[in-house]
Amino acid sequence: MSRFCAKCGKVENGSMPFIGNLCAKCFLEEYSVLEIPKEITLHLCSRCLSYKFKGKWFPPKSYMLKNVVFEVLEKELSQKIRLTVKELDVYYSLTLPEKIGPRFTLTLKALVKAGRYSTVQKQNITVNVSYELCPNCSMKISKTYKALVQVRSAKTHLSQREKILISKILKEIGEKNIVEIVELKEGLDIKTTDITTARKIALKIKHKTGATIRETHEDIRRTREGRRTSKLIITVRLPEFLENDIIIFENEVYRIVKVSNTYVTLVNERSGEKRTLPVGVLWGSKFKKLTNEYPSAKLIVIGISDTKVYTVRVDKEYEMYEIPVAKIPYSVKVGEELKAIIINGKPYVLGKI
Ligand SMILES: [Zn+2]
Ligand SMILES: [Zn+2]
Repeated sequence: MSRFCAKCGKVENGSMPFIGNLCAKCFLEEYSVLEIPKEITLHLCSRCLSYKFKGKWFPPKSYMLKNVVFEVLEKELSQKIRLTVKELDVYYSLTLPEKIGPRFTLTLKALVKAGRYSTVQKQNITVNVSYELCPNCSMKISKTYKALVQVRSAKTHLSQREKILISKILKEIGEKNIVEIVELKEGLDIKTTDITTARKIALKIKHKTGATIRETHEDIRRTREGRRTSKLIITVRLPEFLENDIIIFENEVYRIVKVSNTYVTLVNERSGEKRTLPVGVLWGSKFKKLTNEYPSAKLIVIGISDTKVYTVRVDKEYEMYEIPVAKIPYSVKVGEELKAIIINGKPYVLGKI
């Protein structure tokens, strides 16, 4: 049995889909696919351009106001365009004005297709842009924080290399949720707006250095609403040795080439032999620093070949040493003096004098 359009009387014949008891043309004359309020208000953060959508804040994909407004409008509008009628395909486009003021008019054009029939529906929408601070930015401005990462060293302070490593890690994580970084004599305090970021920072440091992590809570208070709040304090303690350090282990000189969450990889500076040890070794007493407890020697370069540097010890005994060029990580010239330590009768060059 064939159907008739209740409005125009057209017989359903396949060229024009029917929606309920109307042909698509009559349906679209009667109903709009755009069920959008004539006015909408967008909430943007005046500091970082995050936007609020369905009560939650989202970081923008762009830092250009026009792009952010476009992004949030698309989200808002995609909810409000009637896509539930399965016989219809709706494609819509937004035209934004060149300049985005606090209040502007937006034209929304929807191309509606029903089989071979198509029509365009248009609507103007007044958009208000309201600026406020997102929770993240308001915490940053008031310098309040939810978690604190205390980066400390097994030594009394952080070395320059440790600081560089930490700042690299922080760069990877991004500054969005970091309220403040305070440099103290004993290390760095990194304040964050959330617990997740603090834990992420602590774990990244741990994975790169074999640091230990300890969590405590501080400042248990009640908020005005009566909820208990406390700050998470994560203490990250760096071991004495870092990647690239030269150490003495079992009377041999090694370079720490890699520190991971679980293992430390060493390479013997003389033989090139690789060794992998559990990361805990960084905390024991098996690794020794190349320090003054090993007698240091002063060597003078007296000759250089393609493969070897010939030196003479000048502070004592005038012993000659041939050092493979590869074991001196920088170029040297004849007449230059090198600082070295002698272990088992072999010199390890620490640097130029
Ligand atoms: Zn009809
Ligand atoms: Zn913000």
